[in-house]
Amino acid sequence: MSERELDLSTAMNAVRAAARVCRDVQHRLVKSDTLEKKDRSPVTVADFASQAIVCSILETTFPEDEVVGEEDSASLAEDDQGELRRAVVQRVAAQTGSDTDEQKVMDWIDRGGADASSQRYWTLDPIDGTKGFLRGDQYAVALGLIEDGEVVLGALACPNLSTDGEPGALLTGVAGGGARAYALWDDSDVVGREIQVAQIERASQARFCESVEAQHSDQDTSAQIAETLGIRSDPYRIDSQCKYAAVARNDASIYLRLPTLAHYQEKIWDHAAGKIVVESAGGRVTDATGVPLDFSRGRLLDANEGVVATCGGIHDEVIAAVQRARGIA
Ligand code: AMP
Ligand code: MG
Repeated sequence: MSERELDLSTAMNAVRAAARVCRDVQHRLVKSDTLEKKDRSPVTVADFASQAIVCSILETTFPEDEVVGEEDSASLAEDDQGELRRAVVQRVAAQTGSDTDEQKVMDWIDRGGADASSQRYWTLDPIDGTKGFLRGDQYAVALGLIEDGEVVLGALACPNLSTDGEPGALLTGVAGGGARAYALWDDSDVVGREIQVAQIERASQARFCESVEAQHSDQDTSAQIAETLGIRSDPYRIDSQCKYAAVARNDASIYLRLPTLAHYQEKIWDHAAGKIVVESAGGRVTDATGVPLDFSRGRLLDANEGVVATCGGIHDEVIAAVQRARGIA
């Protein structure tokens, strides 16, 4: 097995294990499983358990590798969070089949605290699309690998994204190695199938996707852009990096993420896995001004504004329309 194959199989194992916990928790979602983070976004038992599981699997195979994860254990460690801690430990133990304790689980979560400065590190969003998760909708477990400031591999587990009528999709992308889709719930599917973006010539033939949450992407401007491009179909609104999955496997041809706030800076874990999956499937990903996403600057994409992903051939046409709608060109 080559080094890259080991990276890929480990990433697939990690997101599959985390996705099983997320699925079980989403099915039994109860009020006591949520608490308010300081930024007020809801986090769940599954969020912490997912990060602990992915970090524990990465630690076993790659003890030297750093992880840049969205969560840390600070809010979980507070005195009044005993019930939540026990629930997280129980979920992690049930999934890993191992003896574990609170300290070990907190340590795994905090393995995700790297500052994105090393030559090689993983980015993890343990549940991307928490709002979708809590609504019972779409979300993703998103794991990316960055080397020398470039995304080289990504694995996106999408537990509710339908494949042949059944929920669940696992998409991967490897720089120079193509994109594939696998059965998410069947670990024995190690071959999967190649996926490719849409082969269209004109943006007017495209379907575009965007966030469900209007605070995360400027939907009015997207509607204007769609009109300019001659797109007649309604937007495909879907939470999380499932939008990248949609473009990669040709459920849509354009993903628009247009800034709603002047100061918002995108996080690397919200885009690393999705970007490499789309590019490996033949698509293009830039920011809203057409500039490549720069993953060499730490935890934030602070040299970029928004994101535009497309099936490739129509990218320049889409960026020109985005620029016009935003009053830049
Ligand atoms: P989505 O499911 O695509 O709407 O995106 C979910 C992600 O949006 C979360 O992981 C957050 O990191 C991110 N997010 C939170 N606030 C904003 C914002 N104002 N603009 C863009 N993204 C945001
Ligand atoms: Mg996220």
